[in-house]
Amino acid sequence: MKPRPSFPAKLPLAGGRPAMALSPQAVQVHPSPTTGQGTRQGLINPAAGHASPLSAMPVSSGLGLDSGAVRARMVAKLAEQGVQDPWVLQAMGQVERHRFVETALAGQAYEDTSLPIGLGQTISKPNVVARMIELLRQDAPGKLGRVLEIGTGCGYQAAVLSLLASEVYSIERLRGLHEKAKKNLLPFRLPNVHLMLGDGMLGFPKGAPYAGIISAAGGDEVPLVWLDQLAVGARLVAPTVTPSGHQALVVIRRTAKGFDRQVLEAVHFVPLKSGIA
Ligand code: SAH
Repeated sequence: MKPRPSFPAKLPLAGGRPAMALSPQAVQVHPSPTTGQGTRQGLINPAAGHASPLSAMPVSSGLGLDSGAVRARMVAKLAEQGVQDPWVLQAMGQVERHRFVETALAGQAYEDTSLPIGLGQTISKPNVVARMIELLRQDAPGKLGRVLEIGTGCGYQAAVLSLLASEVYSIERLRGLHEKAKKNLLPFRLPNVHLMLGDGMLGFPKGAPYAGIISAAGGDEVPLVWLDQLAVGARLVAPTVTPSGHQALVVIRRTAKGFDRQVLEAVHFVPLKSGIA
């Protein structure tokens, strides 16, 4: 088996053109094993001997032959907006966001806007994705360990996380979006991304403890099981309704003694709902 290159190979200067894009590779389909507890887990390409997801192929993106320049502009804007973590900027510059939205919306994929992904759900703005992952990674010296994402949606954020964490467990309650994310992610050949259909309000105990938990849907409060599944020293980032009735980003860090909680800026996420549909 070929050794995987260390990551990041090279950190970008803010606004600099990322060296390589996270582009689709040859497609390889694997069956979805059942994990029980009403949760089905589809492993995205756990194949040995895979090509590195970081090795780009020349592809026609529908945005002209090179979408890298457009992404580099997006990264420069993210840096201007205050995103500082070079690992996050690098990852945002690598993942081809336009592949996660309908063709008709591909032209808007690198604008700082949320976009519909079907079934009434949205892919978050690049700025919000970057901000949340930056908060998740705060103080982390390098790659995170296992991360849990609640709300796979179209799979975009899972792809970004795959570059910044050793393993990504991502759970989605809507079958249609779970299937869409599988289809979107399969060509990228990301062996460390594990997609599950299930109720993320229960977390995913089998992968716990997590080095980070990130939710793309906002509830009235942070489910206690998420806190149980957090490793000591790890952070949880989730949109949550505050006492004033508005949704804000909440960051909870587990310490040896308990939990530290910070309420940050106002956000607008789709609601966290229970059950599978
Ligand atoms: N990270 C996603 C954003 C998707 S929007 C992306 O990059 O596209 C948030 C998603 O959370 C929606 O798809 C919604 O169906 C899902 N969701 C809401 N409640 C959930 C729950 N309890 N468990 C799992 N997914 C949930």
